[in-house]
Amino acid sequence: MDRATALAPFHSSPATALVAVDFDGTLSPIVDDPASARPVDGIPEVLEELAGRMGEVAVVSGRPLAFLEQWFPHGSRVGLYGLYGLEARRRGERVDHPSSGVWRETIADVAARAVRTGPEGMEVESKGLSITLHYRQHPEVADAVEAWARGAAAPSGLRCRPAKMSVELHPPIDEDKGTVLVRLADEVGGPVFFGGDDVGDLPAFEALDRLAADGRPVLRVAVDGPEAPLALTERADLLVDDPHGMADLLGDLLD
Ligand SMILES: [Mg+2]
Repeated sequence: MDRATALAPFHSSPATALVAVDFDGTLSPIVDDPASARPVDGIPEVLEELAGRMGEVAVVSGRPLAFLEQWFPHGSRVGLYGLYGLEARRRGERVDHPSSGVWRETIADVAARAVRTGPEGMEVESKGLSITLHYRQHPEVADAVEAWARGAAAPSGLRCRPAKMSVELHPPIDEDKGTVLVRLADEVGGPVFFGGDDVGDLPAFEALDRLAADGRPVLRVAVDGPEAPLALTERADLLVDDPHGMADLLGDLLD
């Protein structure tokens, strides 16, 4: 699909459009230290401007809400959906998933155990309602990290999800980028844009497939690159090379 055709529904019906994007690898380059990830220059401003024009603009990420709020502080019109929608901020209001609170203690226990008993080289990032076990700095321990995650998930009731050079542990709540997107899409009623770079974004692409089957204009955008999953890039309507390419595309939505 050429870019002008892909963006046309958003230019013609901005007030009913939804523009949603992942954060890591999509708005920000992937970095060795996840805490130091930051969006490409200009992206927060472009999303803010889009939020004034489109029906809804949202960042939907596996990161905690507090992390995303660094670039979209209170007063921002950009909706934030952290931990795959378990904690959100919309129109200035904090909205947590009703089933999420009871899992905080389990997550804290498993995170503490991961630090104590996890394989050497595994980095533990506790996010309050989920845990990411990273092996980017030590790819040789990938199998050991995955085995540790599976072993911890079963007795605690948590679920494993694969991600780039990491494994995530989540509460068994059926909330993902797809369910978030469907809710938002239902509210705005018009064209839906989603941009992502990883397997965690596949449920969002699947949600867009279903919306498209119902006749809704949708645009699936994938960030290409050596770590980009084929399942995502093959299904994309548009590919961008990196987060800078995503910044350009989001800027074109404003034109
Ligand atoms: Mg990502």
